[in-house]
Amino acid sequence: MNRSAVSTALVLAVFSLAPVGGHVIADEQPLYGYSAESSRAERQWEEKLRAIPSPENLRSYMEHLSARPHHVGSDYDKKNAEWIASKFKEFGLDTHIEEFEVLFPTPKERAVELVDGGPKFVAKLQEPALNVDPTSNQQSEQLPTYNAYSIDGDVTAPLVYVNYGVPEDYEQLERLGISVKGKIVIARYYHSWRGIKPKVAAEHGAVGCIIYSDPHEDGFVRGDTFPAGPFRPPDGVQRGSVADMPTYPGDPLTPGVGATKDAKRLKIEEAATITKIPVLPISYGDAQPLLAALTGPVAPEGWRGGLGITYHVGPGPAKVHLKVKSNWTMATIYDVIGKIQGSAFPGEWVIRGNHHDGWVNGAEDPLSGMTAVMEEARALGELVKSGWKPKRTIIYCAWDGEEPGLLGSTEWAETHYDELRAHAVAYINSDGNGRGYLQAIGSHTLEKFSNDVARDVTDPETKLSVWKRVQLHEIADAKTAERREEIRKRADLRIPALGSGSDYTAFLQHDGVASLNIGFGGEDEGGIYHSVYDDFYWFTHFSDRDFLYGRALAQTGGTAVMRLADADLLPFEFGDFADTVETYVKELKKLAQDSRDEIRERNREIEEGVFQATNDPRRPLVPPAHEAEPPFLNFAPLDNAAEALTRSAKEYRKAFDAANAGGGLASSGSLAQVNALLISSERHLTNAEGLPNRPWFKHQLYAPGYYTGYAVKTVPAVREAIEQKHWQQADEAIVVVAHVLQDEAEVIASAAQKLSAAK
Ligand SMILES: [Zn+2]
Repeated sequence: MNRSAVSTALVLAVFSLAPVGGHVIADEQPLYGYSAESSRAERQWEEKLRAIPSPENLRSYMEHLSARPHHVGSDYDKKNAEWIASKFKEFGLDTHIEEFEVLFPTPKERAVELVDGGPKFVAKLQEPALNVDPTSNQQSEQLPTYNAYSIDGDVTAPLVYVNYGVPEDYEQLERLGISVKGKIVIARYYHSWRGIKPKVAAEHGAVGCIIYSDPHEDGFVRGDTFPAGPFRPPDGVQRGSVADMPTYPGDPLTPGVGATKDAKRLKIEEAATITKIPVLPISYGDAQPLLAALTGPVAPEGWRGGLGITYHVGPGPAKVHLKVKSNWTMATIYDVIGKIQGSAFPGEWVIRGNHHDGWVNGAEDPLSGMTAVMEEARALGELVKSGWKPKRTIIYCAWDGEEPGLLGSTEWAETHYDELRAHAVAYINSDGNGRGYLQAIGSHTLEKFSNDVARDVTDPETKLSVWKRVQLHEIADAKTAERREEIRKRADLRIPALGSGSDYTAFLQHDGVASLNIGFGGEDEGGIYHSVYDDFYWFTHFSDRDFLYGRALAQTGGTAVMRLADADLLPFEFGDFADTVETYVKELKKLAQDSRDEIRERNREIEEGVFQATNDPRRPLVPPAHEAEPPFLNFAPLDNAAEALTRSAKEYRKAFDAANAGGGLASSGSLAQVNALLISSERHLTNAEGLPNRPWFKHQLYAPGYYTGYAVKTVPAVREAIEQKHWQQADEAIVVVAHVLQDEAEVIASAAQKLSAAK
């Protein structure tokens, strides 16, 4: 018990009958990290905040920002940044625009033609304007369909269909006896981030890569196509970056440093993230004649898409000409940065962001999230005008250049690396938003925090808390009784880890800033992603039409930002975190064991003659090669580290409960040293060397998979070494990661000691 606990207990008695938002607060637990007194005040401010965001505003922001194409380098991109900045200023934020100079190729020549092996065919590479859709005809301002950061190339070669174009697909091709060496591959979108497809194709010797949208994934197989329904029409194309972002995101010419005007730059030829082979995206209208002209083996069952043809793998006789030539120019990007100065701890920053650039009109991606973030900024500004003083500094960011490669956020996080390492409490990101369930993903030290926020926001459709709705949805989806039991009993819902795909990447994985990504979704699907049809017309017909989930996102994000900004003790919690690390260690052991079992079994089958006996001479398969059995790995250092984490998480919880006993925590002033340690806790999960072969990625628990791109690989140095069968590297990585986790356990333990001592 401490000095202020006595006084807050008195305050609680005085206020215990005061109704707050219809509840009597006497029974309420103080918010995690708050004294009873400050919790009461915080709840009142948060209720006020959640009453402010308005669907009409969200609609009008979106209508304005999506009126014209607003990709990097366009006139309207700059105008949007200036408009958002003027709005931030109007809301009362101290706002400026920060500019960077980035490499941004745009197409000069594009061609895909069937030159042999079928009827001559020239791909349209064009999305037609539709009468009902008023912005679809802005062709003079639309970026043509292309994949940014494809190298220039002009190749003619036989075509091979490679399914999703991920490493497992090439293992299948090997069994079929098919090589892509010297060929052009055609891969369908999905099942990996798109940049993985040309990377893996080039590693296997292909000379070109075409990526198309199969109707099976987001076209007529899923539902009615636009404009009758939300799905991808025959000529709809998914634009997108193919830079090798799992190596490093951001401007390809300035890895690790901000792309300021006078930054030292690589030559274009030296940039490791530009593709090795030319790449173009096409529609299924354009893909069908190419795929129909393939013969060779019938595609394995899981490879068959939704076009009305028999899918063959090739190679040939279809022979394709692929040409890509870009203008390799520099573009200026405009990050909008708006601040509300903290009253007590101005040197502790809570950062919130969303990108503002789109591939074309970009209503869903990114404006459905961006408009909510703007409305949050307005709501916080209103609270400040009515007397609210956040303890910590709040920074709202509207990033530019997310689409080509997380450019705006990465360059900002690199430029301000030292400041962010010193000051950043957390980064909360959003991107697209829609109707449905709250998805919170991110740092497990914030798992409890994100659950707590979700308990205080009301779902627009069911009027349940968004937390309750997610919990019930997870029960409905759970595959096993064991999992359902966990969802029902565990205090907090588990949150997944972050891979990549949006602007949290540099904050979390380069700077070591605890991060969350939040957004609603799951009820409205569609097939307009990165096409000219992702616009105001589509969004207001097929997605969050009345902007109620935009409002819910503003309420969720605003609550999260306020609660971090005002907490006496920052609401990091390590029990959930340690529990998650334990599950990762279990997974890694199982992965190693499964790999060993699989190789041993296959070797046995090779010796038994299984592959010869089951080979159909008319559809021959190449038997797999004998592989050396993997050695046993030494997981002891990781086991010890995970246990140390669990131990210090318990110590911290004990210290927290003791400090909290009898009515509340000490005032935040005396908790300053504890907060400093809490802020540093995510930093300690990074190391200076970064991951093997990709030193830009410094976080030792979370990274985008080198061969998945969006999807996370947790404990990446160990997991990817096992997956890639680099056994010695795996053993070495175990020691490195264990060291990082031991270090983290010490930080948590000293936070526990400081908290016990805080008076
Ligand atoms: Zn986006």
